[in-house]
Amino acid sequence: MRVLIVGSGGREHALVDACARSGHEVLCTPGNPGIATQARVIASPQDPEALADLAVREAVDVVIVGPEAYLSAGLVDACQARGVPAFGPTQAAARLESDKAWSKAFMARHGIPTAAYRAFSALEAALNHLETQPLPLVVKDAGLRAGKGVTVAHTRGEAEAALRDIFSQPGAQAVTEEFMTGQEVSVLALTDGERYALMPPSQDHKTIGEGDLGPMTGGMGVICPFPLAEADLEFIRREIVERTLAGLRAEGLPFCGVLYAGLMLTPGGPRVVEFNARFGDPEAEAVLPLLVSDLARHTLEAAQGRLDPGQVHFRDGASAVVILAAPGYPADPRRDIPLELPETGPGEVIYHAGTALRGGRLVSAGGRVLAVTATAPTLEAALGYAYALADRVEFPGAQLRRDLGFRLGLRPAV
Ligand code: ATP
Repeated sequence: MRVLIVGSGGREHALVDACARSGHEVLCTPGNPGIATQARVIASPQDPEALADLAVREAVDVVIVGPEAYLSAGLVDACQARGVPAFGPTQAAARLESDKAWSKAFMARHGIPTAAYRAFSALEAALNHLETQPLPLVVKDAGLRAGKGVTVAHTRGEAEAALRDIFSQPGAQAVTEEFMTGQEVSVLALTDGERYALMPPSQDHKTIGEGDLGPMTGGMGVICPFPLAEADLEFIRREIVERTLAGLRAEGLPFCGVLYAGLMLTPGGPRVVEFNARFGDPEAEAVLPLLVSDLARHTLEAAQGRLDPGQVHFRDGASAVVILAAPGYPADPRRDIPLELPETGPGEVIYHAGTALRGGRLVSAGGRVLAVTATAPTLEAALGYAYALADRVEFPGAQLRRDLGFRLGLRPAV
């Protein structure tokens, strides 16, 4: 098959790697230097119409869309209009991620367990509501803010500042939510809208600092699989994934692609923190190395409404992803830092997230720069191998979290 992958981060590198492993011809736009070692990277305008035209010109069998922004811009719709199979939800279905106020109302309509919430389109009303709420209170920008539009406010002052910040943008909407406690876990379902296959559950580490301190990031590292109790997994299947897919179908928004449920394992059971409409980044870099069946074929079958979940197979064992981020990330990442990557052995892979070539040298070109991944029979061993590999990368000033897996009491071991 000939596959076009759209995006340029670590997630897209993992998607390219998975398709290349199955022997497919892989094209990618805009890509990055790591992707260029495994795929034909094509420079193209990135708007939906131009990308869909590219897919036609290159006669690709399926388009796999990585980042959310392309989905909410209507890339899948543009491909569908040209008869090109595309893996990802339509613009209307991607609202599940792109509009948190709509998403919370959808969950309420379909009885999907989540935190109690209120949505606001004006600052005054939100500030009035704040007076009556217990703390901590979660304040979210309803629109897309790349993982950085959420404040867990421990004082009314913090909540007020977050609301003022959100409403400083024209047309903004805010959501306030009850604060939930428990372990967080990401459960991703590959789906054609009706049938689905769950991927192994994983756990991201979202703050820059160890012990979950400091500012939120796009994600600093992942362990996979997260050991979910069978009863929780069953609950997540029935009450969250199946209810959501059925609700979307009932509302005329059949959802093809990856339904990503960000969950909190609260004392009262699993509840949804948020939905994403695509593979997580860095979850993809942890989950995809464990996939043994053919990703490109699954995505084509999903796009054509004929996914066979029985054919989706993951190997036993575990993976760990250590993100190497630029100094200054997340506030002000330093670019153009020279990078030297080591050779990788079996079970090791370094996905490029924010890299570029300058005068033939590999340099940092973003906040999260590399996703250093290892697979092994156990989580402890995967962590051990991933940290050992990360330590062989030459990246002056790189930031990484040394405590991945701490919530489960895991210690890296090899
Ligand atoms: P991303 O897409 O990067 O995961 P986002 O901006 O869409 O982030 P959320 O996932 O909704 O935002 O929230 C980010 C983080 O904030 C969550 O992973 C969780 O740690 C915390 N959080 C969000 N909502 C709640 C809640 N109701 N109770 C407790 N913590 C929450």
